[in-house]
Amino acid sequence: MTVSTATPTSPRSRPAPAARAPDPRPALATLAPADLAGCLAECGAAPYRATQLRRAAFAGGAEGFDAVPLLPRELRRALGTRLRYQTLTLAAEREADRGLTRKLLLGADDGEMVETVAMAYRAAPGHRARQTVCVSTQVGCAIGCAFCATGQLGLRRQLHPAEIVDQVRWAARQWRLAGDAPPSHVVFMGMGEPLQDVDATAAAVRALGWWGIAPRRVVVSTSGIVPAIDRLGELGLGVTLALSLHATLDPLRDRLVPLNRRWPIAACLEAGRRYARGSGRRLTLEYVLIAGVNDGDDDARRLRRIAAGAGAHCNLIPMNGIPGSPWHAPTPARVRAFAARVGPRATIRFSRGDRVQAACGQLRAELTAPAARAARILGRQDEARAIAERRPLPVLR
Ligand code: SF4
Repeated sequence: MTVSTATPTSPRSRPAPAARAPDPRPALATLAPADLAGCLAECGAAPYRATQLRRAAFAGGAEGFDAVPLLPRELRRALGTRLRYQTLTLAAEREADRGLTRKLLLGADDGEMVETVAMAYRAAPGHRARQTVCVSTQVGCAIGCAFCATGQLGLRRQLHPAEIVDQVRWAARQWRLAGDAPPSHVVFMGMGEPLQDVDATAAAVRALGWWGIAPRRVVVSTSGIVPAIDRLGELGLGVTLALSLHATLDPLRDRLVPLNRRWPIAACLEAGRRYARGSGRRLTLEYVLIAGVNDGDDDARRLRRIAAGAGAHCNLIPMNGIPGSPWHAPTPARVRAFAARVGPRATIRFSRGDRVQAACGQLRAELTAPAARAARILGRQDEARAIAERRPLPVLR
C-alpha cells in the first residue's frame, strides 16, 4: 500500500436532506429472503424475481424499483407500495486516489448525516482485487477517542440495520456508475462504536449475507466493550473482530480511548482471545500511530509482545490529521521503523483519501458547519447547538 498522492476532485454535493416523515414500509435492505419471497408471492410474482431484484438493487446499482427493467412494470409498482427501496439519500461525494477512494455523505429520514468510505484495491502479486466499504453504525459516537473527529460530535443516535446495509448499497451504486465491481468486503469502522448496539450490528451482518457478502468478509471493530465482545461471540456470526488498541499501557490508553478506564487493556485482550477461540477468526489489533505519543521503540516492543500473546495481527494506521488537532502522523520512515520493530505480525495501513476528509467524522463535520448556520437562521436553536458543539481536543504533550 502507498501513501495517497492523488489530488481530490471537487466535492459533488447535493442539498443536505431535510428531515422527512418516518416511512412505515419495511426496508428492502434488511428484508429476509422468506419475507421477500412472501412479498413477491403477494404481488403474484414468481420466486426467481427475488434474484433479479437483488442483483439489480446491488451490483446493478439501480436507483429504485422503477430502474429494474427486468421486472414487469406492474410488479415494480406493487413492490414500491409495499417496500422501501432505500433508507438514505446521497448528500455529497468526494473522490481521491484516482477514483479508488470514494467518500459518501448520506442523509437519513431525520436529517442526520453519516459517512461511508468505499475503497477499491486493485489486484497485486499475492493479493486479489477487493472492493471494501467502511460503514458507520451511529451518528456521532459516545466513546470520545481523543484523536477522532467523530468522537468530538458525541452520540446523536444509533443507526438502524437497514441504514447500515444501505450504505453498502450506495457504495455499490456509485461504483457501478464508475464501471467498477460491487462491494466484496465490509468493515464496521466508520462513525460510531459498532458494539454499543450488538443486535443492530448483528442484524446488519446477517442482512449483508443476503446481499452476497458473507460474514467471513466482514470486520467489526470495537474500542473494547468487553461484555459486547462476549455477546458477539455468543451470536456465532463468524465475523473478524478488530480491537482498537492504540496504546500498550493503560495510562496512555485511558487518555486516548476513555473507555479503557472501565475495561483496561488486559480485559480487552482477554475478551479478544475468547472471541478468537470461539469464532476461529484471528484477532486484529488496530493501532493509530500518533507522532511522539505512541510511536516509540518501547511501544513497538510492547505491541509485538501483546500481538504474539493474543495470536493477533496488527494494523498500524498513521493518524489521519484533524483540523485544529495538535497531533499528526509520524513520518513514513518512522512508521516503517515502528512496523519493523513490531515484526511480521504488523501491516501498515496508510489512510485512503486523506485529502478528502476521509478520517471518520471529518467530512460530516466540515459539511455540517453550513447546516448549523442554516438551523440557527431557521430558529432551530437546539439543532444548531447540537451540530455546532464540538469538544476541543486535549493536548497530551
Ligand atoms: S475512534 Fe471509533 S470508537 Fe473512538 S470516538 Fe471515533 S468513532 Fe468512536
